[in-house]
Amino acid sequence: MNLKPQQYINGEWVDAISGNTRDIINPYNQEVIAKAPEGDEADTKAAIAAAREAFDQGDWADTPATERGAIVRKIAELIERDREELAELESLDTGKTVEESRGDMDDIAGVFRYYAEIADKNGGEIIDAPVPNAISKVVHEPVGVCAQITPWNYPLLQASWKLAPALATGNTLVMKPSEITPLTTVKVFQLMEEAGVPAGVANLVLGAGHTVGAELSSSLDVDLISFTGGIVTGKKIMQAASVNVKKLALELGGKNPNIIFADADFDIAVDQALNGVFFHAGQICSAGTRLIVEESIHDKFVDALVARVKKFKLGSGFEEDTQMGPLISAEHLAKVEAYVEAGIKEGATLAVGGSRPEDPELQKGFFYLPTIFTDCTTDMNVVQDEAFGPVITVEKFQTEEEAVKLSNDSIYGLAGGVWTNDIAKAERCVKKMRMGTVWINEFNLYFPHAPWGGYKQSGIGRELGKLGIEEYTETKHIFHNLKPAPLNWF
Ligand code: NAD
Repeated sequence: MNLKPQQYINGEWVDAISGNTRDIINPYNQEVIAKAPEGDEADTKAAIAAAREAFDQGDWADTPATERGAIVRKIAELIERDREELAELESLDTGKTVEESRGDMDDIAGVFRYYAEIADKNGGEIIDAPVPNAISKVVHEPVGVCAQITPWNYPLLQASWKLAPALATGNTLVMKPSEITPLTTVKVFQLMEEAGVPAGVANLVLGAGHTVGAELSSSLDVDLISFTGGIVTGKKIMQAASVNVKKLALELGGKNPNIIFADADFDIAVDQALNGVFFHAGQICSAGTRLIVEESIHDKFVDALVARVKKFKLGSGFEEDTQMGPLISAEHLAKVEAYVEAGIKEGATLAVGGSRPEDPELQKGFFYLPTIFTDCTTDMNVVQDEAFGPVITVEKFQTEEEAVKLSNDSIYGLAGGVWTNDIAKAERCVKKMRMGTVWINEFNLYFPHAPWGGYKQSGIGRELGKLGIEEYTETKHIFHNLKPAPLNWF
């Protein structure tokens, strides 16, 4: 690996002020792939000060949006140029297959391209003035200094959803990637420097949540915080952010229902139900881990899933025939194991999986077998809690109303799916499903121009699409009286 992970503060590549480092581990074999600086509050304060200075000085916000868009487009081009290196770094760091990472890189370049294209299309409007001889206009301005905190499952993809709209709209920023997967974010900051993002505009601090993340959340000099991660962390950030009433964008967890009606195309529904969960070993916020299957096809459907799951090839993300890599860390593997054990104790039936694989080749990695629970009911924790791993729970339903009711019985509301060939039934269901994204005869498809975010405790705000740009702008109303006159009231 050629990359030397460093922090990027005020246009300089630096180690942690404390000199501390953290080992970055390959989840496939536990080898140390890099030593990253372990920044803390002091590094974070320096990065915030640089971003504050760059914003207050004003050049970036005053740069014409077309020029900012050109820099964002250049970042996309550089990502495309270095696609293979980035994809390999992402797979080394996360364990996902290189083929998946290549797809991520294409999506990421697409996100930068999308925001490059719409950077100069966020104009305001003239609204009707309530008096003659006046102009009333509404303009959109950057929010200011943005803190951006990302998780480990899609390190660079999640970063791109935040970096591209923030830069396109003239904000300055401090990003903190997950401390366990910082590599591709470091690389993209190098590309951002090459693309011409001015010093101080985009800053990168590496380190833990309780130090760097907490400092970002509670700083009086940060105007907006955009966070993607778990619900518990999101709530802590919300509390800390109240100190100066920061603008908040929260993309939190999900426990996503996937409803399968008996009239669906059976083979396609089986195939996509598997894909909707086991991609990246289930470590996807929108994974369709909660299958809700019509009783008349339930047994046949479960048998088909189990037969396919037994043939999955687990292994190194660098081998072409690998379908599923390891989980991210020993700590996360322990969480998934505890979740499955709790499910067994609650009375769910293990249809397949439920343990680590026995294959000697996989013993050094954080592998867990793809797992399916049947006989599940909504009152079980395995049905309600996000496992964030390769585990499906299956519930049965008899009527359309029951299926929709089950799908909404959750604190989460990120995403969901419906499989049926009855168009009217599909439309009736999705209208009632309380989630930010609902797919009909599809699962887990997202793209840059469609908004992404959660209902209920899955979050606040939206990323991607035009709404993603609105998160990073303040709206100002300017009223200009062209013929002022005394009011003669006092
Ligand atoms: P996490 O909440 O543990 O960590 C996310 C980030 O927050 C990391 O960078 C971490 O260092 C930081 N952090 C931790 N404590 C903090 C604190 N006190 N203050 C500020 N920052 C802090 O989440 P994770 O385990 O990295 O990621 C998995 C979670 O992310 C899952 O719940 C998943 O559903 C969610 N996620 C959601 C989306 C979405 O679009 N809604 C996308 C990806 C992941």
